[in-house]
Amino acid sequence: MLFDTHVHLNAEQYNEDLEEVIERAQSEGVTNMVVVGFDRSTIQRAMELAESYEFIYACVGWHPVDAIDMTEKDLEWIEDLASHPKVVALGEMGLDYHWDKSPKEIQQEVFRKQIRLAKKVKLPIVIHNREATADIVEILKEEGAEEVGGIMHCFSGSPEVAKECIKMNFYISLGGPVTFKNAKKPKEVAAEVPIDKLLIETDCPYLAPHPYRGKRNEPGYVRLVAEEIAEIKGLTLEEVASATTQNAKKLFAIK
Ligand SMILES: [Zn+2]
Ligand SMILES: [Zn+2]
Repeated sequence: MLFDTHVHLNAEQYNEDLEEVIERAQSEGVTNMVVVGFDRSTIQRAMELAESYEFIYACVGWHPVDAIDMTEKDLEWIEDLASHPKVVALGEMGLDYHWDKSPKEIQQEVFRKQIRLAKKVKLPIVIHNREATADIVEILKEEGAEEVGGIMHCFSGSPEVAKECIKMNFYISLGGPVTFKNAKKPKEVAAEVPIDKLLIETDCPYLAPHPYRGKRNEPGYVRLVAEEIAEIKGLTLEEVASATTQNAKKLFAIK
């Protein structure tokens, strides 16, 4: 059993063949997944999927790239959704300094507001970080995010940063990049982070693992991520699958 902790099956890339994608995931052993919504339309669709499939859960929040579009009304909507039984986390939220659609100050403000909301509704948070590690760590500390904890999604930092995040009650989630031949840091992180702090994800449709790199990703490929971690850690696929699934269920409070 595999738990894909970060999917975007709510993306238009699956409009044509969603059912087949889900069936393939199940035949690869994926027993649970969390679909992440990060703006009005993707949150709406994430909720529809979580309500339609027993094994799909939802994570709702506002993406840093679009921080400039988030209104107080959107934040209230997210707060309302937080009490839905299938909503297991808030996010993805964080900072993305690669794109400049939303100025840094606005990204930081929207990030802080969502951390405060998560503490209010007592849900873990899913962090998106691109080229913003120092500011992310500082804001998590300042806002006391440790109280709710969560996931550093598609983690691409060093083992040292991973350890710092684990101290703040966060899990480290690895995706497709750990399978890339030239991915030095994710492989180091897979080796050094204890298995009880690791999660697996695809972030599909993005970041497909080797040998599908560059193609559309899908949840069934999360097995390749688990296999790579097993190889690096000298564990069996079953051991990695079962540990990461237990970690995810504990964090998301799924029985
Ligand atoms: Zn992300
Ligand atoms: Zn994502």
